[in-house]
Amino acid sequence: MRALQLVARVDLKQVNFTVVKELGENNDYTGYFYDTSDGGNGAAEAVFKHLPKLASAARAIALDCNCDTGCAKCIIQHGCPDGNTALLKQLGLVLLDAIA
Ligand SMILES: [Zn+2]
Repeated sequence: MRALQLVARVDLKQVNFTVVKELGENNDYTGYFYDTSDGGNGAAEAVFKHLPKLASAARAIALDCNCDTGCAKCIIQHGCPDGNTALLKQLGLVLLDAIA
């Protein structure tokens, strides 16, 4: 979310992100960016449009942070419903690299 401000003209109040555990026996999760206003405002579309650039900027933020596993300066999302318990900086870096 922090990287979004660097790559697109999006007010962070206009978009949010959540992770949903998929049904089934596998531990599959899907992340969704979504507009926060009823009827949409185009913010999630801007995320999709700039996804590789966004991933690259997010990766740079995390790499530049001197924490070990993730902190509020790099990957922790305020308001995360599960308290960011599923986040791990090293795995995030692998995923961001693959997307970028
Ligand atoms: Zn950090």
